[in-house]
Amino acid sequence: MKRKINSAEASETVQADWISLFDQTPPAARAAVRDLIEKQRHVLADAFYERMMQDTEARSFLDNGIVHDRLHASMQRWLSTLFSCETQEQFVTAMAMQRHVGEVHSRVDVPVNIVARGARTLKNQIGLHLAHGTLDRNGLVEAVMYVDSLIDLAFEVMSSAFVASHERTARIDEAYRSFSSGQNMSLERERQRSALLDWENRYLQAVMTALPGDDLPRINGSSFGLWMQHKAPAVFRGPSELHAVRALMRSIDDTLLPLCAQQLGNNPGEVRHLLKQVQSKVSELKFLTESMFERLIDLESGKDALTQLLNRRFLPAILARESEIARTEGKPFALLLIDVDHFKHINDEYGHQAGDRVLQQVAMILQNSVRAGDFVFRYGGEEFLVVLVEMSHAHAMRVAEKIRTRIADERLLISNGGQLDITVSIGVAMHDGHPDYQRLVNRADNAMYRAKQGGRNRCEHDLGFCTVPA
Ligand code: GH3
Ligand code: MG
Ligand code: MG
Repeated sequence: MKRKINSAEASETVQADWISLFDQTPPAARAAVRDLIEKQRHVLADAFYERMMQDTEARSFLDNGIVHDRLHASMQRWLSTLFSCETQEQFVTAMAMQRHVGEVHSRVDVPVNIVARGARTLKNQIGLHLAHGTLDRNGLVEAVMYVDSLIDLAFEVMSSAFVASHERTARIDEAYRSFSSGQNMSLERERQRSALLDWENRYLQAVMTALPGDDLPRINGSSFGLWMQHKAPAVFRGPSELHAVRALMRSIDDTLLPLCAQQLGNNPGEVRHLLKQVQSKVSELKFLTESMFERLIDLESGKDALTQLLNRRFLPAILARESEIARTEGKPFALLLIDVDHFKHINDEYGHQAGDRVLQQVAMILQNSVRAGDFVFRYGGEEFLVVLVEMSHAHAMRVAEKIRTRIADERLLISNGGQLDITVSIGVAMHDGHPDYQRLVNRADNAMYRAKQGGRNRCEHDLGFCTVPA
């Protein structure tokens, strides 16, 4: 449904702009720029590299002899090609070069902001050289505008190739991830559990039988370690736990094992102490691994583990699709944000487990109060979000009111046969055509806040304002 940007079309537009920039710039200004580039390209490449090396982020990509030599040469070639185009054929070649550069950046994963910074650096450098040249004021203005526009055009072509290539890579990554996670994750969890246990046992056995200075089995080289390093990033999509897992494995291999090996046979007390440290790191590894698998398994099923409602991770995708339907087919939808009143008090008074049971029952009431085509999400701890598709404002308010009264009327069960009355506050917002779904959520949130302020156990609709600027 989304209109794809036609890259051939975009590239034709840029080429036409390029040619018209060429035609509009007086030949004297172009010649001055071209001569300057030919004379100073080496100096410009030096200045560019030097400036970029001052930047920590850029340095991580450039701090390497091969990169320096190649980049230095290719930067000079790039400058010459860009500023010496005169024929149709040369334009086509220069365009192709920009696309190639964009694709290389994508493969190397150079962030686009670094490329933009590089472009800005070059513009400044060339501008300074021009200012010290012999051009009169008018000529200088024309030359600087020419340089600016031409570098911007090149950057535009590079960026579009970069994005296209990135999208391709992302699709392949996604396909690989689905393939990886298509493997039974519960089974994989068991496998990794026992792989970690297996390493731990081998390590303990080695400590008991090894002689001083003997190598102890490294966790990074174990079946668990290899899986975590090579497969887990694709399966889990690099959550922060994965960094922690790697750091733990490194500290075991690089610090604790060598210390332990030194002390074997010499200092049993110290070995015991180190063993304890390893075991505590292994417990952390177990915990992190479990939580990563658990989250993934929930996500795969698309359900929130406690309430069995939709996981909020799916909200962006669903709201984007509903916005598209509303825009193209004129079928508006409504959003209800539902927050349990004084929920903290329920937890404090009856315990967390009772709180969980309440959430499960609220979820059930919500699910039973909407149509099959609507969406019910667990939005946060005790907050729920309902997307009512193809819905007028008046109808949405009636549904909200129905939900509010049902929850208020129902006696909810808690453990040991107890019962509880609860209420909810509901904010209602209608999709108004704005494509940013977060703005719609904010409007529902504002309305919900007004319901709380108004005394709770009530429904409020959005007043058509939003605290977050569009
Ligand atoms: P208000 O009427 O203003 O909404 O008050 P409140 O107490 O409901 O709001 P607050 O945001 O202060 O407290 C929400 C509580 O929900 C705090 C948190 O401990 C609890 N909570 C969040 N997630 C869960 C969960 O999964 N289970 C349980 N039992 N409690 C949860
Ligand atoms: Mg809340
Ligand atoms: Mg609440």
